[in-house]
Amino acid sequence: MKLIYTHDNPFFVFNIRNILENNNIKCEVRNDILSSAAGEVPPTDVWPEIWVLHEKDYQKAEELVKLAIHGDTKATSWFCQNCNETNPPAFELCWCCGKDHKTK
Ligand SMILES: [Zn+2]
Repeated sequence: MKLIYTHDNPFFVFNIRNILENNNIKCEVRNDILSSAAGEVPPTDVWPEIWVLHEKDYQKAEELVKLAIHGDTKATSWFCQNCNETNPPAFELCWCCGKDHKTK
């Protein structure tokens, strides 16, 4: 297992996980503060992390993460209908509020 990505915003982490899973890369989220009981772990102390299960997938995963963060030059960013945040094109859910931009 190898750590591929961590961020203090859990929505960023979950978006990255979705992208990896859509590309058949097995990964695991740790320090999942969204689904852990409130108050159990102070959110500021622990960032959610994505771990790639198989070392052989790591390089592809790294490329996908880079693409997700910096964007494809051909794709365009989208604006969240819910909170008006700008999201990278690879993200399916708003990093800010978690809303799916396909369901308007
Ligand atoms: Zn939003």
